[in-house]
Amino acid sequence: MCTVCGCSDGKPSIERTGDHARHDHAHDHDHHHHDHDHDHDHASHGAHHHHHHHHGHSHSHAHDHGHAVGDAGLLDCGANAAGQKIAGMSADRIIQVERDILGKNNKLADNNRKRFRADDVLAFNLVSSPGAGKTSLLVRAVSDLKDSFPIGVIEGDQQTSNDAERIRATGAPAIQVNTGKGCHLDAAMVGEAYERLPWLNGGVLFIENVGNLVCPAAFDLGEACKIVVFSTTEGEDKPLKYPDMFAVSALMLINKIDLAPVLDFDLARTIEYARRVNPKIEVLTVSARTGEGLAAFYSWIRKQAAKMRTASADAVPG
Ligand code: MG
Ligand code: ZN
Repeated sequence: MCTVCGCSDGKPSIERTGDHARHDHAHDHDHHHHDHDHDHDHASHGAHHHHHHHHGHSHSHAHDHGHAVGDAGLLDCGANAAGQKIAGMSADRIIQVERDILGKNNKLADNNRKRFRADDVLAFNLVSSPGAGKTSLLVRAVSDLKDSFPIGVIEGDQQTSNDAERIRATGAPAIQVNTGKGCHLDAAMVGEAYERLPWLNGGVLFIENVGNLVCPAAFDLGEACKIVVFSTTEGEDKPLKYPDMFAVSALMLINKIDLAPVLDFDLARTIEYARRVNPKIEVLTVSARTGEGLAAFYSWIRKQAAKMRTASADAVPG
């Protein structure tokens, strides 16, 4: 099991659409996430599904996209051999394992960030509780923006490809990542999924994380920033109950604002709680259903894009 979030064994699978896979870079990403040690006790972990068959082949079939879904050699919570010895580990050792998992993730997130920058792609990581309306917001945003710049979506869910299908119905490309029992996306999954999207040069990548306000806060995916989607149907004190997520997010989108009067939703109090954990968090109220507030969200996206382009222009010597 994963010491960071407590999610147990599960083999993530990344949808293989094939039709718009990018053949222009032949698996040039590094595979150091294959390096888990295999010294765990097989006898006492009979239920564990071994992933070793992922690691034996040479990747000489880089252009043969016919290999099975999930054949990507991904870091998942269950793949960390050290994590299986937790019962016998000291607290210090568990903390060390957590650091190793997050350290490995951070390296891959840096790689993703470099790739996004090289492609001039602005990436957002959308996080929320289940049912806050991330997918509905994205369907609307993608429909409204896709003629202005290239947009791609990576959809994270434990099961089903329903959300990716909803995005694709707008005409925009989307790749589903199923995390199985895993309760968050990690940088390796996003790196693999990104390769299966068309080139988004000058555009935006939306990453919809698994609905969970806890561990996605700890996993950098290489995004420019996290956007936490909060719904008026949730308790106003959620920012206090799940402070980490609100602390790491640049923007809070308060969705389903059309329902606020019916629900006696206290907007001022929600914002006050969010700013108590993150004084810098920006707040916008929106409704994916009525479209209210979306123009302001789109301006915010354009402002972030301009900021990113100014920053990368400044970084170029001369
Ligand atoms: Mg969704
Ligand atoms: Zn998790």
